[in-house]
Amino acid sequence: MGISAQRLDSDFLTHAPGFWQGDVNADWNSHLWQLKNRVNSLPELEKHLELTQEERSGVLLSGSKLDMSITPHYFNLIDASDPDCPIRRQVIPRVEETITSPGEMADPCGEDSHMPVPGLVHRYPDRVLFLVTDRCAAYCRYCTRSRVVSGAGDQELDIDFEAAFSYIERTKTIRDVLLSGGDPLLLSDARLERILSRLHKIPHLEFIRIGSRVPIFLPQRITPELCSMLSKYHPLWMSVHANHPREITIECRQALERLANSGIPLGNQSVLLKGVNDDTETMRALLHKLLICRVRPYYLYMCDLIKGSSHLRTSLSKGLDIIESLRGHTTGYAIPQLVIDAPGGGGKVPINPEYIVKKGDRQVIIRNYEGKTFAYPDPDNAFDHAELTIK
Ligand SMILES: *Cc1c(COP(=O)(O)O)cnc(C)c1O
Repeated sequence: MGISAQRLDSDFLTHAPGFWQGDVNADWNSHLWQLKNRVNSLPELEKHLELTQEERSGVLLSGSKLDMSITPHYFNLIDASDPDCPIRRQVIPRVEETITSPGEMADPCGEDSHMPVPGLVHRYPDRVLFLVTDRCAAYCRYCTRSRVVSGAGDQELDIDFEAAFSYIERTKTIRDVLLSGGDPLLLSDARLERILSRLHKIPHLEFIRIGSRVPIFLPQRITPELCSMLSKYHPLWMSVHANHPREITIECRQALERLANSGIPLGNQSVLLKGVNDDTETMRALLHKLLICRVRPYYLYMCDLIKGSSHLRTSLSKGLDIIESLRGHTTGYAIPQLVIDAPGGGGKVPINPEYIVKKGDRQVIIRNYEGKTFAYPDPDNAFDHAELTIK
């Protein structure tokens, strides 16, 4: 056994059967069983957990906003003895979700106004976001698309597949299609394949991406059959969504390995959430586990200004501190790009700690991760300056 066999055994835990201990006939490894047995009502939730008043009211109110739905696999990651459990905060509704704070919106990234056809968001010239379903395996309480997912809210996700395909076919500037939703991996293999094969035939598309939280919420869905179907549509990339190291269970790791072994490059998008992952230790542990699973951390998002999210949002300086505490101190591959998805629809804006201490005429003074300063000669700058003084 090589490099990390022992680490793999100690860091990647299975939590099954957990709360389902007495359920001896449970077909635990079937994703259909997992979906059928999701925790989505107050009585089921109270069978397993003692709820706070805030959570009780939150669950009762969620049915008209964003459904509660939690796969048994993910539910087992909850620490019942910890009222501030980071897993619990992500999927169990709280009454604070009904409070709209200043600046919060139903559609924080202005997607609805950037849809040339229903279901297709075209913000950047060369790529599109294709929303192919409104359902997920479980619902994140900070969901940026809570206005249209789960079927609980007033607004429905309108998708016109034929119009979307034909828009992509006739818009030759599009080279990259990102499938999202909802979660595309909640579609059956056959339905997903119909979408992929249609896109794969479009000559000006260079590659396809899938954004999915299924490897974390429902790793049982990543079957060998799904992987061999996906591998017919290369180049295919996938972005997964993990926020906390406990989410990377042994089942999740195996699912990620099956995807990576199918030749799919994997990235991760995390959302910085108060009390979930807004400290360096938690974030570092997550990022390191992702690298072991061959997942390259891609983006770390400041939480979108979704209605009822103020209890989960944290400050930008926290995000910057975390990035600064990583850069130079750990593997460069481990460090995601911190971004703000600009409110109103400006797209993703990178936010970085400042490493330039001073910009001089002929040199720039920079600092490294230890705080030491260095000078880098910058002759082009000197040239610009000389020209200016001659005139
Ligand atoms: C995030 C996003 C993309 C993809 O952005 P990348 O930076 O290329 O990953 C494309 N379209 C929309 C509308 C998006 O929100």
